[in-house]
Amino acid sequence: MSGDEGTGLVAVAVDADVCIGGGQCEMLEEATFVLDDDTMISSVTGSGKLPRARAELVIDRCPGRAISIVGSE
Ligand code: SF4
Repeated sequence: MSGDEGTGLVAVAVDADVCIGGGQCEMLEEATFVLDDDTMISSVTGSGKLPRARAELVIDRCPGRAISIVGSE
């Protein structure tokens, strides 16, 4: 039994080419996503890691479908 479903940390990334701004990701996880003041495009900041369940929530709320999981521990 792995025991990490929903709790294990995963690394997330933003595809700047499809991010449409708006900042849902930053509102949900302000330590992980930051919107550029000029372009209003999001990028990952800090460790770029979130508990899997939080990452999946932010991915689900992203209107541009710009966020993805790129690795896990
Ligand atoms: S929620 Fe998605 S579309 Fe909106 S700013 Fe974040 S990455 Fe971009």
